[in-house]
Amino acid sequence: MIRKINKVLIANRGEIAVRIIRACREMEIAAVAVYSEADRNSPHVLSADEAYCIGPPPSRESYLVMEKIIDTARRCGADAIHPGYGFLSENAEFAQKVIDAGLIFIGPKPESIRAMGDKTEARKLVRSAGVPTVPGTPDAVSDESVVRDFARQHGFPILIKAAAGGGGKGMRIVRSSDELSTSFSAAQSEARSAFGDGRVYVEKYLDNPRHIEFQILADKYGNIVHLGERECSIQRRHQKVIEETPSVIVDDAMRRQMGEMAVAAARACSYENAGTIECLVDKEKNYYFLEMNTRLQVEHPITEMRTGRDIVHEQIRIAMGGKLSFTQEEVTFRGHAIECRIYAEDPVNNFLPSTGTITHLKPSQGFGIREDRGVEVGGAISVYYDPIISKLVAHGETRNEAIAKMKRALREYEIMGVRVNIPFNLFVLNHPKFVEGDFDTHFVNNYYRPELLDGLNPSEQTVAAVVAALLEHDFLEDITTAAGENHTVSPGKWKASRFEHWR
Ligand code: ADP
Repeated sequence: MIRKINKVLIANRGEIAVRIIRACREMEIAAVAVYSEADRNSPHVLSADEAYCIGPPPSRESYLVMEKIIDTARRCGADAIHPGYGFLSENAEFAQKVIDAGLIFIGPKPESIRAMGDKTEARKLVRSAGVPTVPGTPDAVSDESVVRDFARQHGFPILIKAAAGGGGKGMRIVRSSDELSTSFSAAQSEARSAFGDGRVYVEKYLDNPRHIEFQILADKYGNIVHLGERECSIQRRHQKVIEETPSVIVDDAMRRQMGEMAVAAARACSYENAGTIECLVDKEKNYYFLEMNTRLQVEHPITEMRTGRDIVHEQIRIAMGGKLSFTQEEVTFRGHAIECRIYAEDPVNNFLPSTGTITHLKPSQGFGIREDRGVEVGGAISVYYDPIISKLVAHGETRNEAIAKMKRALREYEIMGVRVNIPFNLFVLNHPKFVEGDFDTHFVNNYYRPELLDGLNPSEQTVAAVVAALLEHDFLEDITTAAGENHTVSPGKWKASRFEHWR
């Protein structure tokens, strides 16, 4: 049965809210933004058809308050709520409340969110569908001796993980029996404080794996397709920073096999809407289910660029009760896509979030570049939210072409007022191991050192260009003082040769 959606409330902020508003526009659906007091002038608020303030800056008083969001949706006459990613997107209770309020939740059924939200339950469920999982304890463990038995049987290192985990929290690698007790209780208490649920379980810690995930889409009629893989092994502290598709290690046969596995895993929880099956792949190309994300992913644009399918459109169509608009056979792949996350953080200073107001912004454009962004000049990067500024996506016919386009786009990107991780992204894209495709989840740990960033700071070049121009007019003193205050680069590091270059 089709239930038409005329108005969607987006329970999110930043780039993903803007992304969803754009999809609504394209489908002639009205888009409603909600915002905290800190986001009053944000692009997602200004670009929506209607916008409502839902509270003070802290998320727990605004973007996480279910009642306020649902109440706003009802009062403004929205038919549906799109949760985006993060915030309430994987909260089964929220999905249920949205449905109970007579609204459509643009996402999976609460039962599927609940089943996949508990990692031990999810592992059991997919195993019953014949999907391989990383060796681990079937249930949560509260007794240290069970952990010791597991380590004896499988050998160190082992990984203690939060059953309710996410965002790399509550995870502890244990390399020897001496560390076991401390790590076990540390993981439990971290899980308790991060998720309000201290249950942990144990997995074998795989050596040098790659993180490869599959995007799936499922309608209400049992049609499930996959849109290929995403390679997400470039991570920092178990968090993705650069993603690409296809993965250099996945050939057609492996894609078909893993794709079928992903569809089977989704079918095991009667999944509906968009979701991602995350896997670890070892050196022998054995793959293991890691977890399912029951929402839109940050990195979904690379899949869109390579398949030409709009995942958010499809999410809305499915939520209305429509059938998937294409079959598995109709999914085709073209070229190579890479995403770099541009964060307001300082790659020289342990990736410390860099708060402040954006004073200058000239993003990259041009053939093969897509930018999804949720802040503008004058916008603030605050302590309240994830410091993501933008997602830069490059699409080329080949991997080398996509890398070249991305490097060009990163160098072109101009931003001032906050420090950004662009030099770090350039470091990765220039690294011979990345270029060869020879990497795993330890790439950043193994190769990245802040001192290797010298000369990779495009904003340094921008400032140098300005200085070069001003030198001719004897304004150097003023500008060096100003730049010294809010820039990653100290004026003393500008080299004469660079002036020459920019002149
Ligand atoms: P979270 O839900 O907290 O993000 P995941 O289970 O998705 O945690 O894992 C995040 C990352 O942690 C993986 O991409 C991988 O780099 C690492 N990881 C998780 N489990 C293992 C494991 N058993 N062996 C090796 N690395 C792992």
